[in-house]
Amino acid sequence: MKAPNPTYGSQGTTIFAVMSGLATEAGAINLGQGFPDDEGPADIRAAAARAITDGPNQYPPMMGMPELREAVATHAQRFYGLDLDWRTQVLITSGATEALAASLSALLSPGDEAILIEPFFDTYLPVIEAAGATARCVKLHPPTWHLDLDELASAFSAKTKLILVNTPHNPIGRVLDAAELSTIAELCQRHDVVAVCDEVYEHMVFDRLTHSPLMTMPGMADRVVRIQSAGKIFSLTGWKVGFITGSAELVSLVSKAHQNLVFTTPPGLQLGVAYGLGKEDAFFRDQAGDLAARRDILRSGLEKVGFDISPCEGTYFLTADIRPFDTDETDDAFCRRITTQAKVAAVPISAFYAPASPDIPRHYIRFCFCKRPQVLEEACDRLSRYLG
Ligand code: PMP
Ligand code: GLN
Repeated sequence: MKAPNPTYGSQGTTIFAVMSGLATEAGAINLGQGFPDDEGPADIRAAAARAITDGPNQYPPMMGMPELREAVATHAQRFYGLDLDWRTQVLITSGATEALAASLSALLSPGDEAILIEPFFDTYLPVIEAAGATARCVKLHPPTWHLDLDELASAFSAKTKLILVNTPHNPIGRVLDAAELSTIAELCQRHDVVAVCDEVYEHMVFDRLTHSPLMTMPGMADRVVRIQSAGKIFSLTGWKVGFITGSAELVSLVSKAHQNLVFTTPPGLQLGVAYGLGKEDAFFRDQAGDLAARRDILRSGLEKVGFDISPCEGTYFLTADIRPFDTDETDDAFCRRITTQAKVAAVPISAFYAPASPDIPRHYIRFCFCKRPQVLEEACDRLSRYLG
């Protein structure tokens, strides 16, 4: 075989598949890959089941089922006051993963630069590099994981085509604050840059904080590709239904990549999600409260075991510093050891950095808390017995 695409030809298997495989083999509680340990809301599953039984089951429109596009626009108005035309400003994708791949590959050309905030969700970098573009990484600084706004400003140049903004942030669990968001907005306008906003954890924000889409900031309505995930909103991670909203021009551009990647997304699942987006406000609010309670159970359990835990304002994830255990192992070795020996899986935070980045921290690991409380308690007991 001749040389494949250099990005995909040299890529390993994603850390989520690796650690989930190891967890299954070891019979470990899997607090690595982020997915809930229940089946998700019964009424939404029933709505999708009805749609699959009754149809339609042939190709839906390339942009997505009208019912779902309308529901996405209504949700944007209800939660953020955004005024979107569902016909031209909403595109349904096969998960946020496809939304990201479609957006990045539609926007980027060889020679372009894309700014990433490190650590970052693992699919961003390969898609950027496969498009022939280069990532410029700006770091979140532990232990508070704040963004240095001067460092951010100096990453922008004439070559910058886009910045990827992920808030609430995976893996760290931070919610970008107003100063960070307004600086990003100002820099995007000054340098004529598009923001691709990965907001899949929009409804998982705790402690009375609120999620503010960058798209709502002055001057940003036409510069943002906003990405959402029904898998995350409804705890149905296997469904892979995502949404893109933005200006008609940006959405139309991204649809050109989407039509070549997957063309459409299963219609029954789209109708189930359309039903779900119509649920009452309490559904979205209670979910965050319930997750915050699980975060607290895991955080206090891990602190008792001896980990130092970073602040967590949103998402499914807690970041733990392993240095209190006086180990000279890397985060990766530590995760493998606790998976096979303590029977609790986590993922190393270093997997969320560009491999060539300088100064990658190798003493932080990520635990997922969207699990039943008794599972979180059992995981902490196991870690306590093993590490204590
Ligand atoms: N972005 C982030 C930050 C994620 O954590 C995930 C994982 N769910 C995705 C995108 C992908 O979402 P989906 O499962 O809808 O493809
Ligand atoms: N978003 C999930 C996580 O960060 C995993 C997604 C995946 O496995 N690709 O754990």
